[in-house]
Amino acid sequence: QNPVPNATVDKVAALVEEKEIWHHPEQYIDFEAYKERDGYKLVQECYGGLRDVESVLKIMEDSGLRGLGGAGFPAGRKWRIVKGFDGPRLMAINIDEGEPGTFKDRYYLERDPHRFLEGALIAAWAVGIEEIYIYLRDEYHGCRALLTAEIEKLEAEPPVSNMPKIHLRRGAGAYICGEESAMIESIEGKRGMPRLRPPYVAQVGLFGRPTLEHNMETLHWVRDIVVKGADWFASHGAHGRKGLRSYSVSGRVKNPGVHLAPAGTTLRELVENYCGGMLDGHKLYGYLPGGASGGILPESLADVPLDFDTLQEYDCFIGSAAVIVLSDKDTAVDAARNMMRFFEDESCGQCTPCRVGTAKAVQLIQKDTKWDVDALADLSQVMRDASICGLGQAAPNPVDCVIKYFPQELA
Ligand code: SF4
Repeated sequence: QNPVPNATVDKVAALVEEKEIWHHPEQYIDFEAYKERDGYKLVQECYGGLRDVESVLKIMEDSGLRGLGGAGFPAGRKWRIVKGFDGPRLMAINIDEGEPGTFKDRYYLERDPHRFLEGALIAAWAVGIEEIYIYLRDEYHGCRALLTAEIEKLEAEPPVSNMPKIHLRRGAGAYICGEESAMIESIEGKRGMPRLRPPYVAQVGLFGRPTLEHNMETLHWVRDIVVKGADWFASHGAHGRKGLRSYSVSGRVKNPGVHLAPAGTTLRELVENYCGGMLDGHKLYGYLPGGASGGILPESLADVPLDFDTLQEYDCFIGSAAVIVLSDKDTAVDAARNMMRFFEDESCGQCTPCRVGTAKAVQLIQKDTKWDVDALADLSQVMRDASICGLGQAAPNPVDCVIKYFPQELA
């Protein structure tokens, strides 16, 4: 690993001093350092005819890599679906990272930005993508400086002559623009509001073209998976799950941060083995497995494998693996109030169940702990059934979890 080498990183380091970015990138791999580590060699092999598309698609499918932005759709299958629609095709890369508690994309971007760019170029080759659009969260000022400089270097010295054009777009601070169709509206220059589906963005996406949409971290793993093989990635899981996950852990633990761990690691294992245990004087009380929208679980469910699918049995989901740890100094009611106010602020307002429902839920839970549980249950059902997108459908999760798992707080 190289020490921090260049002016771009100095700029980022200055922003660290100004508290503009979260973590000092002690080890930073820029374009030159990345190439020294065989960076873009796989791109040259793919574009140069040394790899065939079908075998790369098969590796991606066999690896079990799923969308790491939150939805968990199998990445290899998505490549094949988009490839099945007539071109020209486009790619949209989501680095909006707006889910409360999520900071893994930033972590990788600040250390190894070319790994996801190489992943994007490999996906573009396999799917037949003509242009790549990167959508970056507006609040990531340091990352924008860094990424702008690294893309300039890459385009000045492209690893292949027919490299797709890469566009970098800024978001404007709206949580809803992390939703794929709202992000696409925003890239197109419109107000970021989710689209009704079908048609899905794979078929009618950016500028009306078939679009491969990926979270940044999903693409971060592509080079390693293709070079090291599907089994390398799949073999890392715990408790019967497959792959690796980058857990963004915050809250009452000794060592918060991004912890790379096997998919299926439990909360208790994460806290004990990766985070140095709970903070002194704090006892594990509960946790949010997937940021604001993934629900809240009690300590008694700290041994459930954290991965896609499993948590659905508990009416929760892991999403982007933003794990927020609560202690006996916290309450689930406070967490739920905080989340519901967040959803009320961030609702795009397009559909009534979400716009009015989040505001109504805030009113119903904000004053005391004598909640009208029947009214909240009705409201949750309507929001789940009738909201256009995941924000409105998932917004009731924290409140429903308090009623289900923390009834003692409502007594
Ligand atoms: Fe907008 Fe909420 Fe409807 Fe989604 S569910 S489209 S965020 S109003």
